[in-house]
Amino acid sequence: MNQVKAYSAASATALLASTKINRRQPIASDVQIEILYCGVCHSDLHYARNEWNFTQYPAVPGHEIVGRVTAVGGGVKKFKVGDTVGVGCLVDSCRTCPDCRSGLEQFCLDMTMTYGSLDKHLNAPTHGGYSQSIVVREDFVLRMPANLNLAAAAPLLCAGITTYSPLRHWKVGPGQKVGIVGLGGLGHMGVKFAKAFGAHVVLFTTSPGKVADGKRLGAHEVVISTDAAQMAAHANSFDFILDAVSATHDLNAYFNLLKRDGNLTLVGAPEKPLPVAAFPLIFRRRSFSGSLIGGLPETQEMLDFCGQHNLTCDIEMIRMDEINTAYERMLKSDVKYRFVIDMASLKAE
Ligand code: NAP
Ligand code: ZN
Ligand code: ZN
Repeated sequence: MNQVKAYSAASATALLASTKINRRQPIASDVQIEILYCGVCHSDLHYARNEWNFTQYPAVPGHEIVGRVTAVGGGVKKFKVGDTVGVGCLVDSCRTCPDCRSGLEQFCLDMTMTYGSLDKHLNAPTHGGYSQSIVVREDFVLRMPANLNLAAAAPLLCAGITTYSPLRHWKVGPGQKVGIVGLGGLGHMGVKFAKAFGAHVVLFTTSPGKVADGKRLGAHEVVISTDAAQMAAHANSFDFILDAVSATHDLNAYFNLLKRDGNLTLVGAPEKPLPVAAFPLIFRRRSFSGSLIGGLPETQEMLDFCGQHNLTCDIEMIRMDEINTAYERMLKSDVKYRFVIDMASLKAE
């Protein structure tokens, strides 16, 4: 076992603070990674504050991890010391069930999340990327494209794959009108991917100050979602809408914007249930579904796509000790468009 520096929350109401955590000694199939950058996902905040009611304290969030390999187990084939790699929301799964065999490890009933699960080797809670290093089963480690800025690529490991996967699943492409709801970490990648896939992209935002950025990031149109007239102008016109909002909001207003047989997929995970009215769904055979990150093969495909298209996230770099302020800004929708922690700042503490 190795002790490493980390930042953790001691309770739902505590600020995150410096601590030490245990990491396992790499076994044959493991890769040990020095963490260079870690993105700050809104899920980290939901988890640290126990908004989903499964947090184990002390809680070390962080699942948008990029770093450098510092050691590999004897059985590791794909990585060597010095490689730059990524780790997202998953660090293990059963590898034998139908979901795992289909490369959809995120749906494995026995998957291990980067934080908030049980590390089967240590028999202790898993801890995320707000830390100096991590030990991960080789199969859950991803190759980072060499041409991408590593810090700006970190959020691809969650915000990237969580938006890429449903846009691919629902076959978003040329000739389609696609909506992205919420211009945060996920939403801004949703806009970039939907544009890259050739769709006509409409961003829905509650923040008038984000209109120009929405267009710069790739939206063809931007709608202020609190303006009923702007919303009504788009009624019955969308093939697909991706909802990446972190808080309570009215889904039914968006169902009404879908065409017949259109789909709204929710990736946002607000703390409280969202009311769904029957009529907007049944009258035009619209559908409502969810999506969870993406499996390992698709995550690598997404990273390679980003490498080929030189696509990264718009980030604001912070020090580890700025995390609590970053959470408050995230709650105010004041992120442009993802905070990324420079882990050298933790090393220096
Ligand atoms: P974020 O950066 O904080 O962005 C959320 C955006 O939602 C805000 O920027 C804001 O956009 C909009 N918003 C916030 N409060 C709102 C309100 N009261 N009404 C309407 N819009 C509001 O969060 P994120 O990291 O992108 O994550 C978004 C959600 O996805 C979180 O709930 C997170 O836990 C979840 N998530 C799910 C998965 C998955 O696999 N399904 C993966 C990662 C994250 P505007 O200013 O443009 O309105
Ligand atoms: Zn996330
Ligand atoms: Zn499985």
